[in-house]
Amino acid sequence: MPKKTTTSVKKEVPTTVKGMYDIIGDEYYAYSGFYEKASEVAMYYGFKPIETPILEKEELFLSGVGQDTDLVEKEMYSLKTKGGDHLVMRPEGTAPIMRAYIEHGMQQWSQPVMLYYKGPFFRHENPQKGRTRQFQSFGLEVLGSSKSIADATIIHTTMVILQEAGLKNLTLHINSIGDKECRPKYMRELVNYYKKHLNELCADCKRRIKENPLRLLDCKNAKCKEVKEFAPNSIAHLCDDCRTHFKEVLEYLESLNIPYNINNNLVRGLDYYSRTVFEITEDIRGEENTEPKEELKEGEVAPEKEVSVKGLAIAGGGRYDYLAKNMGSRKEVPAVGVGLGVERIFMTQGYKRQDPRIIKHPKVYFIQLGTHAKMRSLNIIEILRNAKVPIMQALNKDSLGSQLASAEKMKIPYAIIFGEKEFIDDTVIVRDMNTRSQDTVKIADLAKYVKTMK
Ligand SMILES: [Zn+2]
Ligand SMILES: [Zn+2]
Repeated sequence: MPKKTTTSVKKEVPTTVKGMYDIIGDEYYAYSGFYEKASEVAMYYGFKPIETPILEKEELFLSGVGQDTDLVEKEMYSLKTKGGDHLVMRPEGTAPIMRAYIEHGMQQWSQPVMLYYKGPFFRHENPQKGRTRQFQSFGLEVLGSSKSIADATIIHTTMVILQEAGLKNLTLHINSIGDKECRPKYMRELVNYYKKHLNELCADCKRRIKENPLRLLDCKNAKCKEVKEFAPNSIAHLCDDCRTHFKEVLEYLESLNIPYNINNNLVRGLDYYSRTVFEITEDIRGEENTEPKEELKEGEVAPEKEVSVKGLAIAGGGRYDYLAKNMGSRKEVPAVGVGLGVERIFMTQGYKRQDPRIIKHPKVYFIQLGTHAKMRSLNIIEILRNAKVPIMQALNKDSLGSQLASAEKMKIPYAIIFGEKEFIDDTVIVRDMNTRSQDTVKIADLAKYVKTMK
């Protein structure tokens, strides 16, 4: 704290925290409109809402998400309460929902449990385009099902939500990273391969070899990209069960006409994923998506060429069959989910704004003139609200001209004028702003009269 030594010390006006933003007016409606539509789509497919607290115990993410991930190492907003508890501002939605599933004994419910959620999440990243420190997400989770149809349901619902938001040129990037049967062997091969190229790797990757080899495939460093190109791919190492599961997911996608690209380098940043992982990106207009659909046939190895993920993922997710056990659950809870980045959706070329249903476009501009009229104006506004007529008003402006000008500027179809004369006569003037015709209406008849306004 700077010391106050003189009276001339300039007080700094508080601003928002770096990477965090106020959401105001129409922008707020854009969020609520998107959430309303996304929730409605989710409800159609049988998802139920859940809201978890913004603060969670740090342990949840250390054990659940994994300590060797960037998210846990660098990006969590951790805090110590006055009582000494270590808490974090939730950086993602999946671990809290698994926590809730176990805590509320949802294993006893009819399975699978299908949930959707929305709200703010927090990551201490470098703010840049499409990356803010507080961001909004909409997510879906299917808990308690190991079936491939659950994966397909998550992907399908996500695609429909994105299409409802106007997005058209979507690409689904998908991969399978195997399970505890087949992944260890794949990891050994991966590590062996990378050890041969140790000198060509960035410092992070040298560390990843020991701590989290799968994330070697995630490295964006140009040096490492070359090595990555010839790295063994996970699909070629899948066990029979994983291969069948993946094949079924792809078959569901084909029957739903959802095109996909198999991306061998797609592993996703978090530790808890198993089998299916996926991301959805928007193809930038002008660059045609000519990638042929790649189909994985029985016994066939997916092509080795890399499909680049253009731009930022607007949605991403996958299966996380071991998260529950990582978190200390006695029983495994097979599950699959997705998170959609709302700000990123808003940044796409295809996005079309959706208004929430509560939005009222003002039908009447209410104009009051003079002290007496002002005193009674709130009673007249109440008549209008009871008659379900949304209004705009200028509480600060006093001249008729400036108030009419405001009404015109806002393209509001009617003005109701209430001045001293009308106050004495118990009337109002209703002016049609388009035809400029006016009616004098008794206040007692106003509720009935507004029903005749178009
Ligand atoms: Zn690297
Ligand atoms: Zn497997």
